[in-house]
Amino acid sequence: MIEKRNFYINGEWVAPIDARDCEVIDPSTEEPCAVISLGSAADADAAVAAAKAALPGWMATPVEERIALVEKLLEIYMERGEDLAQSMSIAMGAPIDLARTQQVGAGSFHLKNFINAAKKFQFDRPLDEKYPNDRIIYEAVGVAALITPWNWPMNQITLKVGAAAIAGCTMILKPSEESPLDAMVFAELVDAAGFPKGVFNLVNGDGTGVGTRLSGHPDVDMVSFTGSTRAGIAISKNAAETLKKVHLELGGKGANVVFADADEKAVKRGVLHMMNNTGQSCNAPSRMLVQSEIYDQAVEIAAEVASKVAVGSAHDEGNHMGPVVNKTQWEKIQGLIQKGIDEGARLVAGGPGLPENFNKGFYVKPTVFADVTPDMTIAREEIFGPVLSIIKFDTEEEAITIANDTEYGLTNYVQTQDPARANRMARVLRSGMVEMNGKPRSAGAPFGGMKKSGNGREAGIFGIEDFMEIKAVSGWTPE
Ligand code: NAD
Repeated sequence: MIEKRNFYINGEWVAPIDARDCEVIDPSTEEPCAVISLGSAADADAAVAAAKAALPGWMATPVEERIALVEKLLEIYMERGEDLAQSMSIAMGAPIDLARTQQVGAGSFHLKNFINAAKKFQFDRPLDEKYPNDRIIYEAVGVAALITPWNWPMNQITLKVGAAAIAGCTMILKPSEESPLDAMVFAELVDAAGFPKGVFNLVNGDGTGVGTRLSGHPDVDMVSFTGSTRAGIAISKNAAETLKKVHLELGGKGANVVFADADEKAVKRGVLHMMNNTGQSCNAPSRMLVQSEIYDQAVEIAAEVASKVAVGSAHDEGNHMGPVVNKTQWEKIQGLIQKGIDEGARLVAGGPGLPENFNKGFYVKPTVFADVTPDMTIAREEIFGPVLSIIKFDTEEEAITIANDTEYGLTNYVQTQDPARANRMARVLRSGMVEMNGKPRSAGAPFGGMKKSGNGREAGIFGIEDFMEIKAVSGWTPE
């Protein structure tokens, strides 16, 4: 069993102030795979004090040097990719090949993009040519608390740490207690890259303990949070007392609007996207809206594609779907599948219970419901599992109404071969991102949502900007 009880504070691995062991459960086997400590308010305070002490020096470090340290971090990240993949796979259940490629790959992609974006950005510049005595200076927000979820651990951690470091913030990372091992490997990489003491600190803990302490701490200037809408609301309330900046990346209930003229692979692509990472993605296209002319055919294809998705252990190599993260999520997903049945949706693939040939592990059958109506629970709640809801529509207007009829607004998807319609849809869908015809967003594009999906933007220059204040100076003497 892996034992990793210490925290990384002020450049050292230190024992928790009050010991509180927590077992990490391998979702493929339901067996404990590691023991960590859950920190206390005192541990959080120690990390905040270290970050606060390191702030003036780090802010004063020229941005070129901060970028160079992130470049070094990226180099070491690439060398330790296998350790990161193994530690994610065992704790949160991503099949090892998915962990090696998509999960680890997301982290290196983001670090690279931050480096490229920062090299082009003017952190200190005149307001414009007409006003040389007005200066715009981008400066770090200050001490940042970074609270991350378990579903795409390295994606989330690099999005926050890379941006905060380049912006000049010092930080305390509190990773999810469900996937703490990868974060601890990441802390080793930061240490090896040679960041000054106190710039990066890591304290494990749960939401009510370390999470709450950090979001309410008077010496924390910003909380950057990715996770559930429930926790985002709690954090915002707690942070309000100290009026700190709160950056939120929350849940989603993305619509994937498939028009009758969509390309022939659109439905299959949508189903596989839904099942990727066992449906545990905030931007999952979980509501497939299909135009009536192709509805029956689309349902048939979706059922067939889902029924062919293999399910297996995260330890096995190959292109299969792993378990969901834990028992609580498994039970929640089972409850929602049952609710779909009870509320009258038509089950066309998967369903309740463990998949065939499994008697333990948090495995879920790849599930598809047809004839879902927008008022059903499975069309409204984020399921965060491999469950797709198919909804029929007739007209473009109706599709827009259904797609926007959600409290979330993270990513929507459009499938049509009519470019004018695609562009019209992109303008009216109320979400931070719209992806059309399977084309992914390019390097440096911002990631983030509207409504209850949050208010922040991560990745590229947008992500760095979120960790900076804009200072306007008048009476500046050009140098
Ligand atoms: P969660 O909200 O339960 O936990 C996320 C993190 O917040 C964990 O580190 C947890 O310990 C901490 N936390 C929980 N309650 C807290 C509180 N009251 N105060 C401070 N910290 C607290 O979410 P999860 O189950 O780990 O992740 C799944 C959720 O994350 C889904 O809703 C998903 O959509 C969302 N998510 C969003 C994005 C995005 O970028 N929009 C990306 C990934 C995941």
